[in-house]
Amino acid sequence: MPAEVAAILSPSESVLSSVYDAAQRIHLEADILELLKTPWREIRAQLPVRMDHGKLQIFEGYRVQHNGARGPYKGGLRYHPKADIDEVRALAMLMTYKCALMDLPFGGAKGGIMCDPTRMSMTELNRLTRTYTQHIHMVLGIARDIAAPDMGTNAQTMAWMMDAYGQLHGHTPGIVTGKPVELGGSYGREQATGRGVAICMREYAQREGVPPADIRVAVQGYGNVGSWTCRLAGQMGFKIVAIGDVKGAIANPAGIDIAALDKWVALAGSVAGFEGAEPITNEAVLAYDCDYLVPAALGEVITGENAGAVRARVLVEGANHPVTPSGDEVLAARKVVALPDVLVNAGGVTVSYFEWTQNVQQFRWPLERVNDELEARMVAAFNGLMARAALDGTRPRQAAFDMGVERVAQAIRLRGFV
Ligand code: GLU
Repeated sequence: MPAEVAAILSPSESVLSSVYDAAQRIHLEADILELLKTPWREIRAQLPVRMDHGKLQIFEGYRVQHNGARGPYKGGLRYHPKADIDEVRALAMLMTYKCALMDLPFGGAKGGIMCDPTRMSMTELNRLTRTYTQHIHMVLGIARDIAAPDMGTNAQTMAWMMDAYGQLHGHTPGIVTGKPVELGGSYGREQATGRGVAICMREYAQREGVPPADIRVAVQGYGNVGSWTCRLAGQMGFKIVAIGDVKGAIANPAGIDIAALDKWVALAGSVAGFEGAEPITNEAVLAYDCDYLVPAALGEVITGENAGAVRARVLVEGANHPVTPSGDEVLAARKVVALPDVLVNAGGVTVSYFEWTQNVQQFRWPLERVNDELEARMVAAFNGLMARAALDGTRPRQAAFDMGVERVAQAIRLRGFV
């Protein structure tokens, strides 16, 4: 694709460009490709919320259900000022292929509300979440569409959503995953995405034959995904040398003490100002001298413009869609290996699947079982993906889309959608 075209793609067009690319390689029928281009259903909801100061504010919320051939729609709910319909559509598409790649019995969906949760009170967020749930409850269900946390939402958000849904349909814990353990959430769900990221790093390091202690890692983002990646990868022996969050960034070539950092973040609310490291700029995290770079926050942070500055040899995509197609081309030309989001951050939705099965069976698994099953599925998916890439001579992202699209297409054929 010409660089000037790639540079102006919207998020959903970017994801689709990977699907088109896969469709060519796997000789996908034109009818099925046509069906995958647009979501099955998109809802836009007007969400009036009485703010604490007394005025009414109207938010806009979405739920995009991309493809349900493999099972009920599954995907998170994002609260972010940039969570517009196209971004949510892109993320819903990614969920379809992520669930297929991990062989979970789910389709793909995503929800979003354009808002800034950092500037809202708990009562406002509670009301917003309930209003959203009331507006879309008719398309949700344990066999229809199951939500989960994403950027800007957490276990508390899921608790409100479950409660609002339950008021209309009766107690239904399986309607959301990533809820508090006290309300039927799964042990290990909170750490699951970071655990999956760390497992991918460990598996790749093993393939390279390099001990984790010799691998310097830079992480962009210290929210749920970034912080758990640092903790768990740190425990595996990786050296975390740079971390950035929304308020600032820090670096220490000798390795950052994550336990000490966590104590600081609990007080300061940011990695910025931590005494055991030097301050650097956020942009400098992406260009930091390291071996593995883990974007674990916003999408589209690595573009055609700044991909040339990446010094890592491996990009581990903790965030969803952190690299634009033109950024991807630059990385590929520079032989930077990009381990794709649909594999790397799939630990979250995999434990969401375990949570959903526990809810359906009304039976709780101990933490060891959750972690053991996550480990087995991540390692199997990692090995399957790398084997496919080696067989076809493709890059990991290409192999991931080839496998994901193939599996979704087969379910479409078997159901007789086309
Ligand atoms: N929001 C997470 C993701 O993008 C988790 C989705 C889920 O658990 O359903 O994968």
